[in-house]
Amino acid sequence: MTKVVLDQNKCIGCNTCPLLDPEVFEMDTSTYKAKIKKQPDTISDATQSAISSCPVGAISTSEE
Ligand code: SF4
Repeated sequence: MTKVVLDQNKCIGCNTCPLLDPEVFEMDTSTYKAKIKKQPDTISDATQSAISSCPVGAISTSEE
């Protein structure tokens, strides 16, 4: 199963991923970094778009 991985050490809190895919990503209001809200069943176009749009490459997928 494909899992979305978000590296909070790289995240600069630009808010792009929650805007592009609010079902999967949300901002952590205490750290101002994005986090996974809910792992998607499949990688949708919105999720893929968020992954490719992250300016610091903090989001990736891994097979589990
Ligand atoms: S797009 Fe990247 S840098 Fe921007 S909030 Fe999401 S993980 Fe952080």
